[in-house]
Amino acid sequence: MTNQEKISALLEATPKGLLINGEWRDASDGGTFDVENPATGEVLATLASATEEDSRAAMDAAANAQESWARTSTRERSDILMRAYNLVKEHTDELATLMTLEMGKPLKESQGEVAYGNQFMRWFSEEAPRHYGRYADTPEGNLKMIVTHKPVGPCLLITPWNFPLAMATRKVAPAVAAGCTMILKPARLTPLTSQYFAKLMIEAGIPAGVLNVVCSASASKVSGPIMDDPRLRKVSFTGSTPVGKQLMKTAADRVLRTSMELGGNGPFIVFEDADLDKAVEGAMAAKMRNMGEACTAANRFLVHESVAEEFSKKFGEKLGALKTGNGMDEGTDVGPLVEKKARDGVVELVEDAKEKGATISVGGKAVDGNGYFFEPTLITGVTEDCRVFTEEIFGPVAPVITFKDEDDAVRLANSTEYGLASYVYTQDIYRALRIGERIEYGLLGMNVGVISNAAAPFGGVKESGLGREGGAEGIAEYTTTQYMGLPSP
Ligand code: NAD
Repeated sequence: MTNQEKISALLEATPKGLLINGEWRDASDGGTFDVENPATGEVLATLASATEEDSRAAMDAAANAQESWARTSTRERSDILMRAYNLVKEHTDELATLMTLEMGKPLKESQGEVAYGNQFMRWFSEEAPRHYGRYADTPEGNLKMIVTHKPVGPCLLITPWNFPLAMATRKVAPAVAAGCTMILKPARLTPLTSQYFAKLMIEAGIPAGVLNVVCSASASKVSGPIMDDPRLRKVSFTGSTPVGKQLMKTAADRVLRTSMELGGNGPFIVFEDADLDKAVEGAMAAKMRNMGEACTAANRFLVHESVAEEFSKKFGEKLGALKTGNGMDEGTDVGPLVEKKARDGVVELVEDAKEKGATISVGGKAVDGNGYFFEPTLITGVTEDCRVFTEEIFGPVAPVITFKDEDDAVRLANSTEYGLASYVYTQDIYRALRIGERIEYGLLGMNVGVISNAAAPFGGVKESGLGREGGAEGIAEYTTTQYMGLPSP
């Protein structure tokens, strides 16, 4: 088979329907939407587009399956997750290829995401039987307390386009482990990876109605009727802060549990005593992974004024040497941005920095031709009024701004409404710890550019969100605590 034939066979084997109550269905009105390849603009596949009626059917399926699913043993749920883990591993190439085709990232990064995303399947398979309760006396000795954790109930899981597998597994795996049923709504731009993942979940034995997947051209047609339904108990959302806020307002009407993994504006702080080669290596990973389209991306490089020139020179050389191209081609380091709108947004941010007097040291332009490519870019002499400093860039653009001392670095790092990922490079471990104590971020990488791990609690503070995914905390998001008391014998 040629590569093209393999891709056609893979697209053919990827489900195109809505997964409701264990069956792949067409949309109730026969509606569809196209999924495009951002590297070429070509249509990859046409999927069923859920209507409000379909969303209600998915809600019915999840609600009907909840009681029996909650009664399954944790071992049974753990086994399903472990079988799914093995299947995802076995189908790494298929999942990675779909991800590169629909999202654009280089194939080797997609393979990395499959490995990372799959760790949530394994981790929560292991966590499922170890989510303990307690049995204790009240201080007065008159009552026995039994504290248990029950599944919160049917959940709506909404995922973004930038990590099409990992964002799904980070929610689906703990929900399965906890005994919740769910409706997964993948992003319109990148649904194919989730569709294929759902197919593997069925093969792993997930019962009908426990996992429902409803893709749609209209996000609100899915979220609207489901969030209005009193049987829904939780919404877990990963995406932009404005949409997260809107969902929280709707959730308030039903007092729904929410987990919100929202935007970021990550500072990457480089002190004068840092190992600059290691800092540049970390900067490349923190900035360029996923073409900069990551909530954890280093958004602002805060560099001590005494080493800013040397750091920028070394960083610029590395950025300038990267090869931009179709993620399916061998040797590609940087793929396209996900859509035209995304690239236009990056162009505007770079133009704004230029107008405000910053210098484009490397790159700075959109690439002509098909696909939504943007050159890896380094901007120096950035000031606090530049939009690249205040907004989430979501592209391969690295702005450098200098600081004078530790207080100045902390002030600059914290001067944002966001608080997700942050990074610090210094050889003084006590300085790194001091920064950790003063910085308002959910995650801090100390001399490391990528820290996400299924065993660690991931999440933000301030307007970056609420709740944690991964770690022991990840399963707690899907459970509710019940206390039962009885007289001491
Ligand atoms: P987005 O907010 O536009 O969309 C996210 C998801 O929400 C998609 O599935 C979309 O279809 C859906 N959606 C959009 N409007 C909706 C509505 N009114 N009701 C219900 N659902 C709706 O975000 P995006 O562009 O897909 O993703 C990029 C954003 O996600 C960035 O801000 C990034 O920082 C953030 N992100 C955060 C994390 C994290 O863990 N904190 C991880 C990845 C991405």
